Amino acid sequence: MMLEKYAQIIGEDELDSIIKIAEKLKGLSILHVNSTPAGGGVAEILSKLVPLMNELGIKTHWKVIRGDQAFFNVTKSFHNLLQNGKGQLPEGAFETYKKWQEINGNELDLDYDIVFIHDPQPAGLIEFRKKAGSKWIWRCHIDISNPHEQVWNFLKGYISKYDSMIISSPVFGRSDLNIPQFVIPPSIDPLSVKNRDIPDITVYRILNKFDVDPDRPIITQISRFDRFKDPVGVIQTYKLVKRHVDVQLVYLGSPASDDPEGEIVYKETVEAAGNDKDIKLLMLPPNSDLEVNVFQRSASVVLQKSIKEGFGLTVSEALWKRRPVIGGNTGGIPLQIIPGITGYLVDTVEEAAHYTLFLLRHKEIADRLGKNGREHVRNNFLITRELRDYLMAAYLTLYPSSNILS
Ligand code: UDP
Repeated sequence: MMLEKYAQIIGEDELDSIIKIAEKLKGLSILHVNSTPAGGGVAEILSKLVPLMNELGIKTHWKVIRGDQAFFNVTKSFHNLLQNGKGQLPEGAFETYKKWQEINGNELDLDYDIVFIHDPQPAGLIEFRKKAGSKWIWRCHIDISNPHEQVWNFLKGYISKYDSMIISSPVFGRSDLNIPQFVIPPSIDPLSVKNRDIPDITVYRILNKFDVDPDRPIITQISRFDRFKDPVGVIQTYKLVKRHVDVQLVYLGSPASDDPEGEIVYKETVEAAGNDKDIKLLMLPPNSDLEVNVFQRSASVVLQKSIKEGFGLTVSEALWKRRPVIGGNTGGIPLQIIPGITGYLVDTVEEAAHYTLFLLRHKEIADRLGKNGREHVRNNFLITRELRDYLMAAYLTLYPSSNILS
């Protein structure tokens, strides 16, 4: 049993509490729907959560909606506009969105007791709910605290029909919706290839493969090439640091099938990097989990210099590997980075460079932050905690006035 293995990390009591809630859901069917099978945090979590739910005896399926280029351009613009960034609403955006909801709504079997719809891309599927008594939960992974009004109003028409919703941080709570809102931060899987301990020899082998020198300090950011992740800001940070310390930068990004902007942003980043041999901009296939693991754990400092962020799984991934993290002061990152305890929060390139230099020069402090980070993640951001929270949200949506512990 997979779940047994987690007991060593989280303790038997925690595991028991998960099993106890799962028993209350036995016999029910659960469906998760999102818009990409790989790439990005949502697919990462679902690939772990779905097998665990099945193992607990709850029949759980995962389905991915399909769309054409026009649809994903629209949903990417929604994503940008909802997180209050730049982005143009393509012409006929709402019609394109509705058209693909209808196609997917007719194609997919959505006949489950509990349906979790992840993010805005498939949110309109609620119009295709058939089964009487089934409960639909909108799971929002992005920052919707300050959304573009027109897009939000459009989306709200769908969201208000859900039975409940889940946000990643209390700061994303909405006062303009009348449905229950659960706060469930995302999580990482400590047993996955991406996060488990690996032998030094493997670390050296991979560093060597990508021509990274293990004897000089490395700073790393692992993120899709998305402007909200500020890859150009990462390059600028590196350049400021490089004036003082002979550091290397590894920026690892992989394409996600629902993100049409990746290539443009990659080009912008390449241009900002110039021809510095100590900058490695790697565009690896999704599921390059071993590489992610190696580059996170061999970094002296991990950056997550996001300007907007739903949660930022990469922060927890790095903290779990006892790395100090310097992250943008936005979205769910402050849940993970406690300034001076597990890392530092920054708003500018200069601040990011300042703290990077500070940590490169004070290894004992970097080590202490990393050690604290590991415990912070153990207590709050492991998949088992998220699994329990999902089960709880499902149960409380089914039986709103019940007492789960009775
Ligand atoms: N990731 C990856 N390879 C890459 C870039 C990202 O495997 O080249 C993973 C990363 O390790 C993390 C997820 O994709 O597990 C990104 O999740 P996050 O919440 O940080 O950002 P999102 O992409 O969902 O905005």
